[in-house]
Amino acid sequence: MVRSTTALAEVKSHYGDLQNYVDGAWRSPEAAEWLDDPNPATGRVIARVPLSTKEDVDVAVQAAMGAWDAWRETPPVDRARTFFALRDLMERHAEDLSRVVVQDMGKTIDEARGEVRRAIENVEVAAGIPSLMMGYTLEDGAARGIDEEVLYQPLGVFAGISPFNFPVMVQFWFWPYAVATGNVWIAKPSEQDPIASQLVFDLIHRAGFPAGVVNLVHGAKDTANALIDHPDVRGVSFVGSSPTAKAVYARAAAAGKRVQSGGGAKNVLVVLPDAKLDTAVSNMIASCYGCAGERCLAGSVVVGVGEVHEDLRRKFADAAAAIRVGYGLDETVGMGPVISAAHRDRVVGFVDRGEDEGATVTLDGRGFRVAGYDGYFVGPTLLDGVRPEMRVAQEEIFGPVVSLFESGGLEEAIETINASPYGNAATLYTSSGRAARDFRHRVRAGNVGINVGVAAPVAYFPFGGMKGSFFGDLHPQGRDAIRFFTESKVVITRWM
Ligand code: NAD
Repeated sequence: MVRSTTALAEVKSHYGDLQNYVDGAWRSPEAAEWLDDPNPATGRVIARVPLSTKEDVDVAVQAAMGAWDAWRETPPVDRARTFFALRDLMERHAEDLSRVVVQDMGKTIDEARGEVRRAIENVEVAAGIPSLMMGYTLEDGAARGIDEEVLYQPLGVFAGISPFNFPVMVQFWFWPYAVATGNVWIAKPSEQDPIASQLVFDLIHRAGFPAGVVNLVHGAKDTANALIDHPDVRGVSFVGSSPTAKAVYARAAAAGKRVQSGGGAKNVLVVLPDAKLDTAVSNMIASCYGCAGERCLAGSVVVGVGEVHEDLRRKFADAAAAIRVGYGLDETVGMGPVISAAHRDRVVGFVDRGEDEGATVTLDGRGFRVAGYDGYFVGPTLLDGVRPEMRVAQEEIFGPVVSLFESGGLEEAIETINASPYGNAATLYTSSGRAARDFRHRVRAGNVGINVGVAAPVAYFPFGGMKGSFFGDLHPQGRDAIRFFTESKVVITRWM
């Protein structure tokens, strides 16, 4: 068949057997087991990923330990220069990186470009480490002639375990801050789309980070647990689904480690009658169906308050039906496939269940086919007449499925959000400052949008999360991350 001429070329058609990057060099792990890594749009295997063993993890930890002393003694300004070099390399290779993300994860090329941009922004912020990491001091702070000061110091080896949906960005929420503050790092990306990490680590190598400072170990659950359990790993940064996030938090904390652990989400978008409806609808469509709903900030439940509901339901359904689904390398495509056949079946299962529970499927993406592609597609799906107690309204689906229901008032909508076990994001569409203030103040979610459907904090700000969406105290990104990756030391000096 003739495919669209707007399709970008794949960077490579096959990436072979992936390797770990340890102590400044690419190495084949001892791993006896390998997984096939398919392109979600075509279903074709495009790489094999190793499941690194405990021994492979130990080799990486030893390499990181060996690099730590020299790296922590490297002046922050020199560490920052290496990040400037990385930033320039990432800019130059951003397009290739984006195309690999599309090929391995399935999102659209523009979504991938946005993800890579967010990763670069975190490098830019971390490059400001000489001023960001400064402590503070007070002359005569302890008594006359006795000064008191606080120093921030690195802890050692940290590990980062990340989810499939942002194969580049999520690691960059952590490691630039860890490494800029003088720690050393081991990344364990998702086994479902590990290829982009190969490109990222090629750039890390070329930027001139000393051997052992930043390492890559491929694998799945057992590799992640080997990292968490390793006695020389001082802390863990995790993002993934809530049950795993909670288990990782408990496991690392029980071993006395630093841990920040982001979980899943069920985000509600509330529309008041005074909202600018057309703008709100196009904004909500991008939130709910962008990245095929596989975004922890994706809208998943849409609530119309009072008389707006009828117009909202009609306009939302029309806009959702108009989304063009296909291979994300085609620039005209608005939504790609979901990550795997198993995940497609899980998403479809939720739609079946919603129907069984009494919801009406007004837009049905089950059995969706894209001509010429045999991948894991689900079309935009809309469930109407949903009630808050239904499973489709309560559980994370992580696909292009939206539950729509009507609410009597803002009060009721806030109660629905606050009753959820998740607390990642919540959005209100309104032109009332008073209602917006009320929502912002009372809603129990870590990332709040006012007329913004994807409330994604930029790199200077922490990536929030409450309740079952985040376990720990200090969030990824920005100043919170600097604090997470350093411990404070108080020095009291009587000058003699
Ligand atoms: P997942 O929990 O299956 O896997 C995440 C990572 O943990 C992977 O690297 C995986 O190999 C590893 N892992 C899996 N099981 C493990 C276990 N028992 N012990 C230790 N490690 C384990 O998540 P996923 O399906 O890759 O990602 C999607 C989820 O991530 C969604 O729930 C989404 O909401 C969430 N997410 C949250 C945020 C956030 O900021 N809160 C951001 C992005 C994604």
